[in-house]
Amino acid sequence: MTASLSVRDLNVSYRGVPAVSDYAVDLEPGTLTMMLGRNGAGKTSTLRGIVGFLPGETGRSSGRIELLGKPVRRPDPLTLARAGLELIAERNKVFTGMTVDDQLRLIAPDRARKLEVLEYFPRLQERLAVRAGLLSGGERQMLATALALLRSPEVLLVDELSLGLAPAVVRELMQHLRRLADDQGIAILAADQSVSEALAVADRVQVMDDGAVVAEGAIGELDVEGVLDTYLGRE
Ligand code: ATP
Repeated sequence: MTASLSVRDLNVSYRGVPAVSDYAVDLEPGTLTMMLGRNGAGKTSTLRGIVGFLPGETGRSSGRIELLGKPVRRPDPLTLARAGLELIAERNKVFTGMTVDDQLRLIAPDRARKLEVLEYFPRLQERLAVRAGLLSGGERQMLATALALLRSPEVLLVDELSLGLAPAVVRELMQHLRRLADDQGIAILAADQSVSEALAVADRVQVMDDGAVVAEGAIGELDVEGVLDTYLGRE
């Protein structure tokens, strides 16, 4: 099977200081890979390096990226989005003054796709007339996920979906990712710090420390407990 996304030799640095070293991944269709690691381990830089979107003037990235079997010469978020890859960024921006429905309609190619996507988010269905600024943190993340999904991506990169949210909400969001991989065949790479919630839904795990993947494998193959004790500490 060809991977939906392959990354090799990804390096990211800020003002010449390395933040990510020789990162590699293969994402198969319909699978959910969780990237775990402490604050500052390099998760955000990895995801941003893949899409060629580093903050400010100081970030530089290099590497080889293949999306749906085609090499991507100079990655940038817009080109990649057109080619089937969406990034849901950390603390993503939704338009707080617009209602949920207006935002969905802005991006949805047609009504059918909007309704199809909303099937996954019953809570959003109940909040269609509400301005996004009034949504709870979890609902906002659902909206961000739904907006990304409207474009029918084949690859979804997700940064810290669970940031600042209660465990029950995190579990719900993780279940959404699982279903999107299962039902829509999307290849998902999600960086997160909610270890037990992430492990409950993942097919594969990558553990990052100090800018490098220090352990990875399928759930069941990896000595998850040992690795997590060493690199993440117990929460
Ligand atoms: P977090 O959970 O805090 O987002 P992370 O695992 O995503 O952490 P990164 O944010 O990618 O980690 O940070 C990796 C390294 O790069 C850290 O040492 C960080 O200080 C550095 N770094 C990140 N962004 C910048 C930046 N804009 N300028 C300079 N250094 C940065």
